[in-house]
Order: sequence, then structure tokens, then C-alpha cells
Amino acid sequence: MRLKKIMIIKEKILGITLFSLFMSIGWITGISPLKTSLKTSQEASLSIKRMFADGPVLNLNNDYVSSNQYKIDILHYDLELDLYPKEKMIKGIAEITGVTMEPELDRIDLNFYNNLKIKELTLNNLSAKFENEGTKLSVFLDDVRMDTFKLKVVYEGTPKLAGLSAFVFGEIDGRSAVYNLSEPSYASTWFPCNDIPSDKVLLDIKITNDSSQTSISNGFLVSKELNRDRMTYHWKTYYPISTYLICLYSSKYVEFEDKYISADGDTMPIQYYAFPNQLDEAKIDFKDTPKMIAFFSKTFGEYPFIKEKYGIAEFLWQMGAMEHQTITGIGSNFVGGKNFFEDVYVHELAHHWWGNAVGPATWKDIWLNEGFATYSEALYAESKSGKEALQSTMLSKFSDEFSNTLYNPGENLFSPTVYDKGAWVLHMLRWEVGDSIFFEILRTYFEKFKYKSASTNDFIHVCENLSKRDLTKFFDQWVYSGEENIELDYKWIIKKESDGKNLIILSLTQSQENYSTFEFKLEVKLEYDNGTSSSKIFYINEKETTIEILVNEQPNQLVLDPNSWLLANIKDRNSYED
Ligand SMILES: [Zn+2]
Repeated sequence: MRLKKIMIIKEKILGITLFSLFMSIGWITGISPLKTSLKTSQEASLSIKRMFADGPVLNLNNDYVSSNQYKIDILHYDLELDLYPKEKMIKGIAEITGVTMEPELDRIDLNFYNNLKIKELTLNNLSAKFENEGTKLSVFLDDVRMDTFKLKVVYEGTPKLAGLSAFVFGEIDGRSAVYNLSEPSYASTWFPCNDIPSDKVLLDIKITNDSSQTSISNGFLVSKELNRDRMTYHWKTYYPISTYLICLYSSKYVEFEDKYISADGDTMPIQYYAFPNQLDEAKIDFKDTPKMIAFFSKTFGEYPFIKEKYGIAEFLWQMGAMEHQTITGIGSNFVGGKNFFEDVYVHELAHHWWGNAVGPATWKDIWLNEGFATYSEALYAESKSGKEALQSTMLSKFSDEFSNTLYNPGENLFSPTVYDKGAWVLHMLRWEVGDSIFFEILRTYFEKFKYKSASTNDFIHVCENLSKRDLTKFFDQWVYSGEENIELDYKWIIKKESDGKNLIILSLTQSQENYSTFEFKLEVKLEYDNGTSSSKIFYINEKETTIEILVNEQPNQLVLDPNSWLLANIKDRNSYED
């Protein structure tokens, strides 16, 4: 998912309209609401800045998943959803096939919001006892020894808005636009499911709406069937999918296509769905998608859903975009026809490797989704415009206000720490192990864990195996324990030697408050009057370090980390101490 910082900068363009959207979303959904007394768009933008300083705080319910939910493995969801936008109502039939992984299990626990009314529930074709309280659905097994089970739930009602949106019956210019955004744990607002990201499934989803509406979902289109004035779209996946990535868009869309041809010569359709009034803009903004897919396929490994599709659909979530598997949702205010939001498109596409194919083992590992997708923005910029673009992209994501640890960020799943510091950690890992091993790590990690889930430790093991190094300290300081940047103070003097050479004595002090000592590779660059320079790399592993460098010419300048590889605040003490 990409929650766009650009929205904060662009308030002049989007102005007060944006603010009202934020207001309505904010109020309904459990993001900390804004103050009510705001009058001007300037005040609004300030307030939005404050609200997003740490990312939206989700009211995650710690009891959402019961221990029993880890004792089952869902294999397949067959969802039939009848949409009634005028009434804001759905009628659903969910057929869930799964296996129990423990013989003594006395009930199957799933997630399902109880505001939806269950009309019928059967287990292996027999009606079964169940309880639906809050967000839990428990189906009791009595004495039946289960192995494979088939649960059928017939239900209807109006889905509750929750999280960052959940299931929405929206409207634009008098037209209906239905969409969902379930990440992290709101799929159960619209279908019963084992809503754990690591319980991946295969999916059949049949969406029925008025025949004037196009209904879109994950995977490939099996069939379109007209029944009087209602049309059913049947979508299906070949590849496993996590519940939070299962999606539905239904509106009056204009469809257009492109294609991607893989290195092996396979052709895959790219399907775009634009709102009718934004077709021209969408054609401009979506244009580079095949190039982006080719770049990431070359860099990480072949696009992982090549037998299905890639697609982009506009939706009414105005806070950013969402990487729904094979059909990214782009907020309609991010389609402007000026290629202004390329990084958003790149980010969501990159999630198809990082987050979708390689899923997070738990939400504590969310940086493996967001940090990776964010670093992919920098990699794409580098591929287009070179090293300087890599550096400037990374500097645009630099902050000295990251908070909490990257692993297990609590309720701040979508904070700048998770996105931007996550990207910086990959950038620093690249500097630590070198380009060729770094990209080998990415390709190996992808190949090993695609269509499955990976934890932070899984990633670290790949890094250690390929670099043949113990990276415990690196990941401790940046991911598990450290919450700060390196604070590096330095001072340097030149001592003239008797043979005329110059001895540079550089003293370094790490002065960060909490994390005692970072270990890192540091480049020291010396610049000379004639315009030349020389560089040396040192490994810093002490709080206080003195480095001596002997050079022939007297340098006029010393620069630490000249290529911006480190999440470090570097201060020259020469400038205020003498
Ligand atoms: Zn994202």
C-alpha cells in the first residue's frame, strides 16, 4: 500500500476537496480523526501533516486472531457476491475448503463481522452449530473427526466500514463505484475467512452487479454471464493469495489493454480500468507499466503472476494506492495525465514481488512489504537516470525522526519508519555487502519464498548465506533493537610529516542517545585544490574511533559518506570547536 506523502505537498492543487475526503474517511474508519474546527485548507494541510507524521494509527484488535486459527489451513475460497449499490447491500455465499491440522480440534475459528447476517451455514453439507460474535465466527465440530472440511456460509447485509476503508459502496459523479481495501485485517468485513496473511489460498470469485457495471478481481477472467439485467464476472487465481489481497472493484469502467512479453517470450495481458472521465489521463499515466514490469522481472526474477495478468483499476480510496494481487487499485486523484505519480505506480507493482508473491509471515514483518516496495522506487529511478537518481530518491526518504523498531512496529504498520527506514535498511545492506551480492540476495530470497510467506529471520538467513557473513549486528541495530540514526560527530587535523607528506587525523564519535554503538562501513573522501579527490573505506565498530590517513597532497576538504549510503546525521566539529 502507498499512503501518499505527495498529498501533503500538493494541498494547493487538491485543496479543500482533499480535506473533506480525509475527514470523511478519517471519521468513519478509526483513524484518529482531525479536529473539527479547521476552516482553511492551510490549516487542514497542517493537520494532515500531523496526522500522518507517524502514519495512520490503526485500532488493531489484538484478539482478532485466535490460537485455533493457526490450527487450520484454508485451501480455497469460492465466493459469490451479489452487489446492490443502491441499497448498499451484499448477498454472499462463501464456500471454504480447508484442512484441520490438529486431531483434537473442537471448533473451526474464522473471522467474520457479525453485522452481516448468516442465513445458512453448513459443514460438509450438514447444518452445523456456530457462534458469530464481534469479528469471530466459530463453527463447532462436536465429535466429528475432521480432516478436510467444506464450510458453506450464506449471508447478507451492509459491510461495516473499518480500518482504512474495508468494503465501500462509493459514488462519483452520480455513478456507483464499489471497492474494498482490506489490509491489514478487514477482509472479514465482507467474507468469512481465516484472516492471517500467511494462510494463502486459491480463489474463485463471482461478482454480480447491474450489467452496466464492470466487476474486477484477482487472477484471470473465466467467464462473463448475463442473466436478465445482471452480469456475473467469474475471476480465478492459479497462484496462492492472502486474504488481505483479495479484492473487488465494480463500477462503470472503460477498459483498455497493453501487454508484457517476458524474457522467455511469454505474452501476458495488462488490463487497465479507468473511470470514463479520466480515460485520457489514465492512458498517459499507465503507459510505462510494461517497462516497469520488465525492469523488476530482470532485477528480482520473472513477474510472479505471469499466467494471470497485471492490471490497474481506479478506485475511490483517495489516500493512495493498494497492491491488490494482479490488479492494483489507484486512487482516482492519483490519475492526472502528467506522470506525476510514477513512484506510486512503481511501488504497487513492486509489491507483486514483495508482499504479494513473497508474503509477510506476520504483520510484525510488514517492512518486508513496505520497505522493499519503497526501495524498489529508488531502484527504478536508478535504472532510468543513474546513481544520482538513486541518491536523490534515498535522500528524499531520509529522516531523523524515525521512531520505534522496524520489526514489530505495533499499530504504526504504515508509518514512515516502516516505509522509508525500511528502504534505507536495504540501501545500507547493499552498501554493506556490495552490489552483486545484494542483488543475488534479492533474487534468491524471491525465488525461495515466492507463493509463500517469509519472516524477517528468513530474509536474514538468505543474506547471511550469500554474503557468508554474520549479520546479527547489522539487523539488530537497524531492524530489531535500534530505533535511531547514527549520530556521527567528527573532527580532523592535518599533521605535516618530516618527509613533506600529510597525516590526516580524523576523530569520530558516535553520540546517539540510546543505541550505544553502530557498526558500519564508512567512506572518507579527501578533496584537493586541483579538483581531484581520493577515497578510503573504513569499518567503524567503536563509539570513539581515530583514523589516520597519509597522503602526499594537502587536502582542502574531508567528506564523510559522500555517496549517502548511511542513515546517519554527520556533524563536523571543526566548524564549532577549535
Ligand atoms: Zn506499499
